[in-house]
Amino acid sequence: MPPGGKFWRHGNNVGQVVLTLDGSTQYDDFFLNQVFTGHGVFPCHQARLFVKDPQCTCRRADGSIFHVLFECQKLTHLRQSWPRNWQRKELTDLLKTEFFRRAFSDIVKELFNVAFPL
Ligand SMILES: [Zn+2]
Repeated sequence: MPPGGKFWRHGNNVGQVVLTLDGSTQYDDFFLNQVFTGHGVFPCHQARLFVKDPQCTCRRADGSIFHVLFECQKLTHLRQSWPRNWQRKELTDLLKTEFFRRAFSDIVKELFNVAFPL
C-alpha cells in the first residue's frame, strides 16, 4: 500500500491525491485521468513512486500504460467490444472518442481494484 493509499478510497479525496502527485490538468473521471497523466495504478508508475515491482500482475511485461491498455492478456475480456480498427490508431486519437475514454476508464478501474483490493 503506497503512502496515503487509503485516501484513494475516500470519494472526493481520490482526485485530490492525483492532482497532488501530478500537478497538471485534472479530468472528471478519476480512472481516465490516470490514462491522460500516466500516473496512478500503472505498475511502472507505482514502481517509480513507491519502489514497487514495475511488472504487470500478468508477469509477462512491465506494466506500462501501453501494455495495460493494449497488450495485457489479463484484461483481454475488456477489449472484446472494441472496434476492429483500434490498432491502427494512436492513443491520443482514441482518447478523442467517448467509446475509448470509457473503455480505458474501465481498464484502469479494474487495475485499481486489483492493486487496492477492499
Ligand atoms: Zn499484463
